[in-house]
Amino acid sequence: MSQALGRTYDGIIIGAGHHGLVLGSYLAKAGLDILLVDRRLTYGGGLNTTEATAPGFYHNLHSINHFHISETPWFRDLGLASRVTYITPRYEFGQAHRDGTALVLGRDLEETVANIARLSPKDAATFREWNRKAEEMTARILIPERYAEPLPQAERDGLLERTALGREFLAVARRQPLDVVRELFENEHVQLLFLFKVSLFGTWLTDTMSKTSPMGSVIRAFDLQTGYQLCQGGSFNLARGLMETFIAAGGTFAPQVAIERIVIEGGRATGIALRDGRTVRARQFVASTIDVHQTFEDLVGRDQIPAALGAKLDNFQYTKWALFGLHLALHESPRFAAEKFDPNINRALKWSIGAETMEDLFAAHQQVMAGKMPDIIQFGSGPLSLLDPTQAPPGKHTSYAWHVMPLDPDIGEQDYESWKAEFSEKILDTWARYCPNMTRKNIIAQYAYTGREYVQELVNMRGGDIFMGAFNAEQVMYNHFGYRSPIPNLYYAGSAAHCGGAISGGPSYVAAGIIARDLGLKLPACRLSPPGAQALDLHLRQEGHERMRAHLHDRRHVEPDQRLALLGRQAEFVRIGGGVGDILGALVGLVRKPVQGGGELDQLGLDRGIMRGVLFRAAADPGERGIVVMPARVHRHHVGLALAQSAGRAGPAAQLDIAGLVELGLVIADQRLEVSGRQLGERALVPGELGI
Ligand SMILES: Cc1cc2nc3c(=O)[nH]c(=O)nc-3n(C[C@H](O)[C@H](O)[C@H](O)COP(=O)(O)OP(=O)(O)OC[C@H]3O[C@@H](n4cnc5c(N)ncnc54)[C@H](O)[C@@H]3O)c2cc1C
Repeated sequence: MSQALGRTYDGIIIGAGHHGLVLGSYLAKAGLDILLVDRRLTYGGGLNTTEATAPGFYHNLHSINHFHISETPWFRDLGLASRVTYITPRYEFGQAHRDGTALVLGRDLEETVANIARLSPKDAATFREWNRKAEEMTARILIPERYAEPLPQAERDGLLERTALGREFLAVARRQPLDVVRELFENEHVQLLFLFKVSLFGTWLTDTMSKTSPMGSVIRAFDLQTGYQLCQGGSFNLARGLMETFIAAGGTFAPQVAIERIVIEGGRATGIALRDGRTVRARQFVASTIDVHQTFEDLVGRDQIPAALGAKLDNFQYTKWALFGLHLALHESPRFAAEKFDPNINRALKWSIGAETMEDLFAAHQQVMAGKMPDIIQFGSGPLSLLDPTQAPPGKHTSYAWHVMPLDPDIGEQDYESWKAEFSEKILDTWARYCPNMTRKNIIAQYAYTGREYVQELVNMRGGDIFMGAFNAEQVMYNHFGYRSPIPNLYYAGSAAHCGGAISGGPSYVAAGIIARDLGLKLPACRLSPPGAQALDLHLRQEGHERMRAHLHDRRHVEPDQRLALLGRQAEFVRIGGGVGDILGALVGLVRKPVQGGGELDQLGLDRGIMRGVLFRAAADPGERGIVVMPARVHRHHVGLALAQSAGRAGPAAQLDIAGLVELGLVIADQRLEVSGRQLGERALVPGELGI
C-alpha cells in the first residue's frame, strides 16, 4: 500500500492525464506539496504509447496529433524541451482521390497555394486571401485565447469589435463552419479536405454543422503557421516528460487510487476519501481534471452542489461519436497511387481517406448520429513511423486508421470481436484502393482498439467522448464549465473547462494561474510571451485581463516578473501609438505594485520621460476621445492616477485606483469609465486633480 496516501498535502489533484500533470507541475514548482492521484496503474491518460501489435512497434492508442504543443506557454514555462521532442511535419494534411489526384496542405504558403490551384485556381486565390487574415487571427486571437480565461461574451465582443481583424473574426465565428467552407470553395475535394482540417481541431462534422463556432476554429481551415505535431517516440513521452518535471519539483504521484468522494467539511473541500476507508487531506485545495459528472455528481454529490450547477450538469453534452482505431505494424509505409500526382501525399501527417463527396460525409454523419455503423468507409490516418522512425523497428513502419463510430453501433446479433475484425477488413479494403501496397502481405500485425476498450480504461471518456465534452457553442469559450467551483477550495482543471478537450494543456494552464493567485503564490515562470511578439493586440489585453482580474479584489498578488514583462511591451505601445485603452493597459504595468511617489518607477528602469511620452501621445491621438492619463498623487500605498474624459477639460476626472485602471486599460476606455466608476464606488470621481 502506497505510503504516499498516509499524510496531508497542500493540494490534491485528481487524474494524472496531461492536465493533472501540467497543473501539478506548475503548483509543485510554485512550492506547494502536491499529491497527484490516478485510478489507473499508469499515468498520462490519453497520452498512451504501447507495443500493441508486435515488439518494437509503438502505437499511440489514444492521442496522436498534438496541436502546436511545443509553442504552448506551459511547454516553455516547464522547460519541457529538455525532456520531450516534438516533430513538426512539413506537410500537415493530405487527401488522395480515386481520380488519381491529391491535395496536400503544407506549412509553406506558395507550395500550398500551388497545390490547391491544381484542383481549382479560384479556390487557390481564395485560400491565399483568407490565409493572410487567418494567420493573423490565429496568432493574435485564437492561440492567445486558448491560454487565457475567457472573457464574458459582451466584453470579448466589445474588444474584438474595436479592430477590423476582430470584426472579421467575429463575423466568421458567428457562422456555421460548414457554410463558410462550402461558400468559399468551389471544388468538392478542396471543401472536403478543409472540413477535415477544421473538424480535426476537435469538432468533426457534428460541430462544423453547429450553428456557430465561437472559438473560431473554422479559422484553422486557412492558417498554415500553427499546426499538428508528433511527439517523438510516441505520445506517452509527453506524459513522461511532464511526470519527470512534476517529480523533480517535489510532487508525489499515487496510482491505483480509488476515490469514494471528495471530502467537504465546513463547506470547503478538504481532501479525498478513498474506497478503502482512508482519507487524505489537503490543506489548501482539491482540483479535479476528470469529467464533470464524475467530479460533481459522483465524488461531490448532488446534495452538496447548488441547483444551478446541477442543471448545468444535466444539460452538459458529450459527443455522440467514438473512434474505432485500427493500429498496424507494417513492412512498408502506405504509398498512395496518387503519389504520381504529388509524391508529398505519402508524407502528410494527417490523411483523409475514403470520402470523395460531401454526400459521403453527410451520409456517414447521419448514420453515426443514428447509432448505426457507417456504410461508406472514410477514415483518418497518417505515416507515423515515416515522420518519426523511432516508433518502429529499423526499416519497418506503423500506421493507423481512425474511423468515426457510435460507441455501441447497432451490429445486431453479431459478436463484438467478430464485428471488429470484419470492420477492420473493410477499412483495409478501402485503404488498398488508395494505396496499392496496403495488401495483406504488407501487414505484420494489427490491433483494433475501439470506444468500448478505451472507455473501460479511461472511464472519464464518457459515452466514448474523447474530448469529455462536446465542442458546441453552448459549452465553449464564455460558456465553458469554469475553473472555480461553487465549493471553496475545489477547482476544476479538466477538459470541460476552456479551451476544451484534446491535448492542449489549456484548462490546466489557466487553472494553475487561478489557483496560484487565489493562494497568493508566485508562479514559477513569467507567463507572458516574449516582449516584441505582438505589441498591440488582443493577446496583451486578454492575458492582462485574466491576470489582473484577481487584483480587482486583492492586490497582494503582484508578480514582479510579469510586471516587468508588461513594461517591456509598454515601450512598443509608445512607438506604435495605440489607442487610449492600449496605453492604459500599458500603464497597468507601471502601477501594479504599491509604490512611493516615483521612486519605484525609477527602480523599474522607467523614467518619467517614458511615462510622459505615453501621456502626450494619448493627448495627441486625434482618433480617440482625448482621455488623458497622468500620475496624480499617492493614494494610500498606491500611485493614484487621474483621468479626464477630454484633454484640457477640468472634469469629470476620476481618481481611480489600480484596479480601476486595469479595467480601463483592457477595454474601450470611454465606454468603461462609467462601469469602473460604479465598481469603485466611493472613490469614483474626484474633480480638480487634472493638469499635466
Ligand atoms: C482514440 C483517441 C484518439 C485521440 N486522438 C487525439 C489526438 O490525435 N489529438 C488530441 O489532441 N487528442 C486526441 N484524443 C483526445 C485526448 O486523448 C484527450 O482529449 C486528452 O487525453 C484529455 O486529457 P485529460 O488530461 O483531460 O484527460 P485524460 O488524458 O483522459 O486523463 C484523465 C486521467 O484521469 C484518470 N481518472 C479518470 N477517472 C478517475 C477517477 N475517478 N479517479 C482518479 N483518476 C481518474 C484517468 O485514468 C486518466 O489518467 C484522442 C482520444 C482518444 C480516445
